[in-house]
Amino acid sequence: MGKYFDKLNEYQEKAAALTAAMNLFDYDTQTNSLSKADKYTSKAIGILADEYHSLFTGKKAAKLIKKCMKEYENGAMTAVECAIFKQYIKLHNELSPIPAEEYRKFKELTSKSVKVWVNAKKNKSFDDFAPMLEEIVGWKRKFAGYRKLKGQREYDVLLGDYEPDFNMEKLDVIFEDIKKDVLPVVKIYRNSHNETYDNPEAVENFINTAFDENKIRELCIFLPEYLGFDMDAGVISESEHPFTMNIHKYDVRMTNNYSNGDFFGPVFSSIHETGHALYEQGIDDSLVMTIIGEGTSMGMHEAQSRFYENMVGKNIKFWKPLICRLRKMFPDEMRDISEHDFNIMMNRVTCGAVRIDADELTYPFHIIIRYELEKSLISGTIKVSELKDEWNRKYKQYLGIEPKDDAEGVLQDVHWATGEFGYFPSYVIGSAAAAQLCVHIKSVMQFEKCLEGGKVKDLKKYFTKNIYRYGKAIRTNEILEKIMGEEFDVKYYVRYLCDKYGGEKEI
Ligand SMILES: [Zn+2]
Repeated sequence: MGKYFDKLNEYQEKAAALTAAMNLFDYDTQTNSLSKADKYTSKAIGILADEYHSLFTGKKAAKLIKKCMKEYENGAMTAVECAIFKQYIKLHNELSPIPAEEYRKFKELTSKSVKVWVNAKKNKSFDDFAPMLEEIVGWKRKFAGYRKLKGQREYDVLLGDYEPDFNMEKLDVIFEDIKKDVLPVVKIYRNSHNETYDNPEAVENFINTAFDENKIRELCIFLPEYLGFDMDAGVISESEHPFTMNIHKYDVRMTNNYSNGDFFGPVFSSIHETGHALYEQGIDDSLVMTIIGEGTSMGMHEAQSRFYENMVGKNIKFWKPLICRLRKMFPDEMRDISEHDFNIMMNRVTCGAVRIDADELTYPFHIIIRYELEKSLISGTIKVSELKDEWNRKYKQYLGIEPKDDAEGVLQDVHWATGEFGYFPSYVIGSAAAAQLCVHIKSVMQFEKCLEGGKVKDLKKYFTKNIYRYGKAIRTNEILEKIMGEEFDVKYYVRYLCDKYGGEKEI
């Protein structure tokens, strides 16, 4: 380790520790914090954010980068040190244009806004959240304006925070491809969807039953372990919106929500969040508590979670070794449910209003709607006051439905409350990369035999070796290129959706 990198290493280790502390506060706010503590929690977060900001900005940081650059160019750094150095420069460039005081104020604001959103959602009233959202959008536009390069658009700056390999130019093409080939299939399901069940009455009963919350919780704690989640290095808790948060690879926290009595909702959330959690737990030990010790991007993160949710969880072969357990746990509900019916039920297309409950076929359109709205909000072509009507109009346009209230409509996601504009497209990038990875997985292992034989942990082993361990040291396209010999291509996703859903019906 060179003399100057040694100094930079102190900075980045401190930054990783501060991130861990801020993440813990965030996790606590979303799971079990006390309402009277809010004011002081947000103050503490503001102070931590200030400290974090100062580690990457100012003359000291700029000087340090200059000096380290010599060590970098002389080949005095190891591969891990090079990756840390590059990430340090990236964060320096992102944070330097933002005044420290404004950065702190924004962090304080978003530490309070989740509570406001939770209450507004409870009251089904967008008006209760709109003023807060207006402030958040204002900050995001301002920060993106500070940070943008010459000729760059604000929303591209925000997209880059979650998936550096994609911008609007690329996403517009990807979404057009999806609309062109997948929307006609969605339209067929919108007009008629008659599934052929062995026992329609039992299915009807299964779908409408309020499942015992404790039993669903038990199942949703079993599934992550079955997939390979290390319970000694992680926690499963509860929150309004399921999420996964890494403090570091030995402290990965995921949440779920079992309160609505549904079966598939929490089950697939559990499998989805496990995909995120396995990624974080698979980071190499040499990267723990560094600024590159986490998944490379939200796109690649969603590739893992959507792979587990859809390619693994919605494959009936995955359930073959588990079906007896389900029958024992839910003897009444499962009594007359055949494997065939279970398979059709979990893969049925419902054209619903809620993204996290969406089927695979309509899922990308939930994202396209948010992408189009975010683009307009950040460019200023629509105002927050027009957001709800625009939301409802687009749901009618793409999916032919109207949300029954604001909770099921414009208030359904937490992302805007936490200021995560630019995040949503990662879900489609991830779903598409998952379809691409699935083609690869089938070429290197007997995928379905592995699911059927209860050896699903083999997947974790493969992904750890080829993706997880690198953390932020390599990017999404580099990963795909390295293991598949080609970069991201949406054609795999379009083909996957059309084969799976277009095949049953004539198009
Ligand atoms: Zn996710």
